[in-house]
Amino acid sequence: MQDRLQALKEEALLKIQQASDLKALQDIKVSYLGKKGPITEVLKGMGKLSPEERPVVGAYANEVRDAITSALELKISELEQAVIEEKLKKESIDVTLPGRPVRKGNAHPLTAVIEEIEDLFLTMGFTVAEGPEVETDYYNFEALNLPKDHPARDMQDSFFITEDILLRTQTSPVQARTMEKHHGRGPVKIISPGKVYRRDDDDATHSHQFMQIEGLVVDENVRLSDLKGVLETFAKKMFGEERKIRLRPSFFPFTEPSVEMDISCFKCGGKGCSICKHTGWIEILGAGMVHPNVLEMAGFDSKKYTGFAFGMGPERIAMLKYGIDDIRHFYTNDLRFLKQFKKA
Ligand SMILES: [Zn+2]
Repeated sequence: MQDRLQALKEEALLKIQQASDLKALQDIKVSYLGKKGPITEVLKGMGKLSPEERPVVGAYANEVRDAITSALELKISELEQAVIEEKLKKESIDVTLPGRPVRKGNAHPLTAVIEEIEDLFLTMGFTVAEGPEVETDYYNFEALNLPKDHPARDMQDSFFITEDILLRTQTSPVQARTMEKHHGRGPVKIISPGKVYRRDDDDATHSHQFMQIEGLVVDENVRLSDLKGVLETFAKKMFGEERKIRLRPSFFPFTEPSVEMDISCFKCGGKGCSICKHTGWIEILGAGMVHPNVLEMAGFDSKKYTGFAFGMGPERIAMLKYGIDDIRHFYTNDLRFLKQFKKA
């Protein structure tokens, strides 16, 4: 019986030695030490032995079992160690490789242009004012001298939520709201950038959503020449010191008189090219002296206070500045387009 146990021990130890993975070791454990294994079988025959032999064989059987168990444990830890070492080898880091650069994003071209314009007006003493994009009919139209039946409303068809609530068609309601907060006392000196909405069919020059930046100055003795000075400073800083500006008469319901401002073409210098449509001038923005009705409605005494306002489209400024030919590029989030505006 001892010989049989001895043979089983040697056989098991050899198999353990040759095992190449944890699964094989598990199988060996089950087949030799399990309840149906050969060692258990041998021990079942102990009853046939003499009382003197039993403790000797029993002790030897335990010895065999312990030898197999510890051989298994040793081999398992060896294999586990090997797995770890293999993994470490694969994951080794070559510290001599150059590092991967951290990818940095860049501001959207419209954000960049708006921030540039904001910075420029901040240096002239303006503050930035913002207001809601979902606006009431009163602030969007009526407070700006556009009563319900005014024909100029047709040019600003919007997305109505109710009869009296709509997506703002211009940033001018921020002007009305800001003036109201001043309770009839100047000075007011703000620019208001933001998104506006119109019911328009999208094409290369139209978008149902776009940006505006408006400016408003209200104080005593504000004159058209002050407006001209501010606009000229803006044009030179934005498009080059050698720019000239010209004001042409125009119409807006909320200003009187109203003007359009052109700048001398920055591409051809005024000789005429495709950008200026061969006129030498490029239309940049609309402006004017705040209509007395608008001042009165916002609580200002129009005999004491005057003011000027102007409004421009950052898309148009960006398109001119960077030679972009389609307004839809700003809103379709094509990375190939957006990445071109990364600052060096
Ligand atoms: Zn030109």
